Amino acid sequence: MFRIGVDVGGTKIACGVVDENGKIVFKEQCPTLKDRSDDEIIADMASLIRQAAAGRERKIAGIGIGVPGSVLHNVVLQCVNLNWSNLNLGEKLSKLVPYRIFSNNDANCALIGECRYGASKGARNAVMLTLGTGVGGGILIDGKLYVGTHGNAAELGHLPLVFGGKHCPCRADGCIEQYCSATALVAQATENIRGRLLEIRKANGRITAKNVIDEAKAGDEYACEVFRGYIRYLACAVNGLINAFDPDTVLIGGGVSNAGAILIDELEKELEKICYFDKKKFPRRICLSANGNDAGILGAAALVD
Ligand SMILES: [Zn+2]
Repeated sequence: MFRIGVDVGGTKIACGVVDENGKIVFKEQCPTLKDRSDDEIIADMASLIRQAAAGRERKIAGIGIGVPGSVLHNVVLQCVNLNWSNLNLGEKLSKLVPYRIFSNNDANCALIGECRYGASKGARNAVMLTLGTGVGGGILIDGKLYVGTHGNAAELGHLPLVFGGKHCPCRADGCIEQYCSATALVAQATENIRGRLLEIRKANGRITAKNVIDEAKAGDEYACEVFRGYIRYLACAVNGLINAFDPDTVLIGGGVSNAGAILIDELEKELEKICYFDKKKFPRRICLSANGNDAGILGAAALVD
């Protein structure tokens, strides 16, 4: 059987067919043109799904859809990016295509995609932090995504980390996002910038999270100091999640996860200092997301049970 994954973003709608082994056997996309009506956008989704299903109609197990917003029972309660509110996506789309439909928040999809096809294959209880411009999250409990009462759960980037800390657009102060995002890493590096990072800023006009990580790996003293400081915040956040959920897997995704092994190594070192539960007695793993550019499609497809 095949699963179809549809990733609806602000700029494009990506659609793919995923086989039993997690291989994408067909891929197509179209621009979202998000100022259009929801009916026009959904009609384009249906058209992509029909192209994807062509020739294998009887072997389609279902359609999964990832949406950048709050989703509950196939109703998009809120999606600021696409200006959708209380949109019954499941009902509208099922009038256009004859398959079972599953939908969820795109960050949640990323987590279940990794647990079905990616880095944390086979995980049953997992939490994910996506360290990008902001910090996204996902919670998998007993193999199922936890979405909460209104589809709003797993906004882990807005858990408090520093009381009275930096102000966050969510209205609170000191959220994980303000200390653990790629944006935060750059801000931390900018504070007393010197060494190689200062040279890079002079040359390029700015520095990126990748610059900080690369220079830390290369051994620049200041970059190492910044990266270690950043990891202390991240370890504190991950420790809280471990204590709350007792996961078998903690997944780290987003741009910062491209740091690779150094991120896991440093994180484990910090966790060893602060974690209440001994890792040897209570095993759990920390993985970096592996689905890369196809995470959207694979994650959406993984929603199909
Ligand atoms: Zn916040």
